[in-house]
Amino acid sequence: MYDAIIVGVGGMGSAAAYHLAARGATVLALERFDVPNDLGSSHGLSRIIRLAYWEHPAYVPLVRRAYELWQRLEAEARERLLVVTGSIDAGRPDSPNIVGARSACAAFALPHDELDAPALTKRFPGYRLPQDTVAIFQPDGGFLRPEMCITAHAALARGRGAHVRPRERVVSWAAGGGHVRVRTEAGEHVARKLILTAGPWTGAILPPLAPTLAPERQVMLWTEPLRPERFEVESFPVFYIDMPAGPFYGFPSHDGHGFKIGRYHHRHEIVNPDSMDRECREEDERVLREGIRRYFPDADGPTLAMKSCLFTNAPDEHFVIDRLPGEPDVCVAAGFSGHGFKFCSVVGEILADLALDGGTRHDIALFRLARFPIAFP
Ligand SMILES: Cc1cc2nc3c(=O)[nH]c(=O)nc-3n(C[C@H](O)[C@H](O)[C@H](O)COP(=O)(O)OP(=O)(O)OC[C@H]3O[C@@H](n4cnc5c(N)ncnc54)[C@H](O)[C@@H]3O)c2cc1C
Repeated sequence: MYDAIIVGVGGMGSAAAYHLAARGATVLALERFDVPNDLGSSHGLSRIIRLAYWEHPAYVPLVRRAYELWQRLEAEARERLLVVTGSIDAGRPDSPNIVGARSACAAFALPHDELDAPALTKRFPGYRLPQDTVAIFQPDGGFLRPEMCITAHAALARGRGAHVRPRERVVSWAAGGGHVRVRTEAGEHVARKLILTAGPWTGAILPPLAPTLAPERQVMLWTEPLRPERFEVESFPVFYIDMPAGPFYGFPSHDGHGFKIGRYHHRHEIVNPDSMDRECREEDERVLREGIRRYFPDADGPTLAMKSCLFTNAPDEHFVIDRLPGEPDVCVAAGFSGHGFKFCSVVGEILADLALDGGTRHDIALFRLARFPIAFP
């Protein structure tokens, strides 16, 4: 019998496998596709990490711990997983990201500069935001390389004895009598604890959550900038901008991949992850080109690539990290609502705490299941 079985080896599941194995637990981590894969939520070469967390102040201590753990992982894996570029949050003075980022900077004494639109363009010439825009630059922001993070977590977990099994889909599970039975397409496994990190498929593996967590189709676009020097890692911070044409986020060119942009909640398409349209189409590009033309015109060069991906949205856009009511041997981490990757390292630590100790020193009250009216059988 394993100490823990993990369902889903994406961003969160690979981190949980690493932390559990590091603490000496016997682990079986099951993934229906490859590790990593480009069918869930954790592909596309880059994910923003930022300290000036405007969504809720409870995230700041967690992201601080996440930075520490990413740096530790980098040292252990001997790979550059985290690239610091600084981060820009921009919007009108009353935009939620500006109000929230200002208050996070004040509450946690985060170094930052507040810039108006001309000062922003002077400092970072790739940015051309409307005159009434305010920008907050936070020097610790940057991006993670998600596929490499997953590979590092999974490889180091394996190095400590974890069994990481790609291409073995979990079909069902049942808890009771102090253990959990997991049935896969290949057979049956038994463990003391079960961790569900199935990303957009959480509703399929945990049906009571299906009405609460909404998988949403997203699209990312990479372009070849017209002025490449304005979009390099050294000259262009990652961004989240709340603009009249929509909220956009993006990244400098790195490793030859070009400037990358996405529109947060892209075209508001709630989908079934098994049947979603994974092709990227003209109408997808149109939405993203509008953001480039209006706010980053020097990046408006030829298309290099497009990729679709999935958010898993909770109604309040806060995470779900908890033990199941009535099933203390089963934990779930899901509903990361388009902003979870930066936290994978610390979520892995939290999941190991919940599975091995029954609780965690981290404050995860915001992520409780009890905030939703979910009836568990
Ligand atoms: C386009 C896009 C941009 C984003 N930008 C950012 C960003 O800049 N910063 C940030 O912090 N976050 C960002 N996010 C969000 C972040 O990437 C996600 O919150 C995070 O990747 C979620 O990880 P996960 O482990 O929950 O899901 P996943 O990585 O998808 O892992 C779930 C895994 O479970 C597997 N699985 C499912 N069902 C089964 C089963 N029955 N049996 C076995 N395996 C199963 C899946 O195949 C998958 O590999 C972005 C997301 C997208 C889509």
